[in-house]
Amino acid sequence: MEDKQIRLLRQLPSVNELLQIERVKQWNRDNGIKETKIAIEESLSQLRQKILSNEINTVTETKVLENIGQYLSKRQTPSLQRVINATGVVLHTNLGRSLLSPTIKDYLNEIMFSYSNLEYDLKKKKRGLRYYHVEKLLQELTGAEDAIVVNNNAAAVMLVLDTFVQNKEVIISRGELVEIGGSFRIPEIVTKGGGTLKEVGTTNKTHLNDYQNAITEQTGAILKVHTSNYRIVGFTEKPSTEELYQLAQSAGIPMINDLGSGLFIDLSKYGLPKEPLIQEAVSTSDIVTFSGDKLLGGPQAGIIAGKKEMIEKIKHNQLLRALRVDKMTLAALEATLQLYLNPEKVLEEIPTLKMITISDENLMENAKKLAEMLNKLPEVKITIEKGTSQVGGGSFPGYLLPTYLVKLCLRSDKRISVTKLEKCLRCGEQPIIARLEHDSILFDVRTLQDGEDELIYQQLKKRIKGE
Ligand SMILES: *Cc1c(COP(=O)(O)O)cnc(C)c1O
Repeated sequence: MEDKQIRLLRQLPSVNELLQIERVKQWNRDNGIKETKIAIEESLSQLRQKILSNEINTVTETKVLENIGQYLSKRQTPSLQRVINATGVVLHTNLGRSLLSPTIKDYLNEIMFSYSNLEYDLKKKKRGLRYYHVEKLLQELTGAEDAIVVNNNAAAVMLVLDTFVQNKEVIISRGELVEIGGSFRIPEIVTKGGGTLKEVGTTNKTHLNDYQNAITEQTGAILKVHTSNYRIVGFTEKPSTEELYQLAQSAGIPMINDLGSGLFIDLSKYGLPKEPLIQEAVSTSDIVTFSGDKLLGGPQAGIIAGKKEMIEKIKHNQLLRALRVDKMTLAALEATLQLYLNPEKVLEEIPTLKMITISDENLMENAKKLAEMLNKLPEVKITIEKGTSQVGGGSFPGYLLPTYLVKLCLRSDKRISVTKLEKCLRCGEQPIIARLEHDSILFDVRTLQDGEDELIYQQLKKRIKGE
């Protein structure tokens, strides 16, 4: 060991010395004795290491205290935090899929921090059902006789299969054996639900009589799965949902329709491809399942809508209890569904729909605003480029939305590289997820929320200065 290192190690205060300092006493009171002790020990050991690797040349009390303070505040910061999504992928599964509507904020705040009539019928003065709160709205919006809600659509599909196809065959087209991601695969789910898979047709073509020929005494249901995250194009054929439903009805077997994303509003008016609407699916199926946090723009949830007697059966399935939704989900779902009662305003009020249908002019306007702000940084070169965004979340597969990208290049005399800058933005105190392309960072304005321009500017300013 060098003399300098020995000297510095001696200068490090002991735990007991530190405990006498007023600021540490305050930490003891604020964070608890245990937390403070861990922070002190961790900090001292970190500083010792730094001394031994010659990373520091002085030890001061201020420096030690600062180190402990940083350690404590890091322990108090939740790992799950806000990020800025500049990727242009609207339903970004890794970034939390749908954003809830700001219009429901106050209501959510009230429900989450007070008692509620979650399972209490105020009029009858007796126990009620938590599902009641969204039942009427779902009936009205979907046109279904009844509906129920579980934790997510994967749970909805499992629950439906578990209820109706135990020890029976499930007929499904080979073109619809979907994997959703996160190892949720339709064939496995059917088996888990106690059913046997009866594949019909081929990957690209399945005819009505393929289904017809497969119906036997053993048939439990026809399962239709919306191929939400891929498209089969070219030499293809499949029966319409109506035809399939007629077949199921005449054979006296239920038709289950897993829609995946749930869409109440026809977005083809906004230039997007036609996706089946929930209302259409409900009118041509016995049971329809869809997600709450995909195109619907609500909280994570799985909605099951369909025939009254079938929903009744689901309500009596023991599994329902294991898949039941929390009051936070129900509150967010009910308030989101209420926004759909006014179709003129819903596109503005639900962020997911707003970001998908935002006009070209508004995108350009937002791109100009961001570009102007970032241009205040002398170290960067900013341009606006045409590009494409994606809906994401396994909806509108292969479809690209035209957008504007704010492109950032670094002026050549800067030491920090674009790759390093992107990493700093991603890992900083306010993470920003942008696209890295060649020697530039691209910000897609489609998925930026109010006020995030300013946050991007502030973070960039800090990072370029190397803070
Ligand atoms: C997304 C999706 C699911 C799963 O929904 P989650 O709400 O993510 O659980 C199931 N089926 C289809 C067709 C889907 O697109």
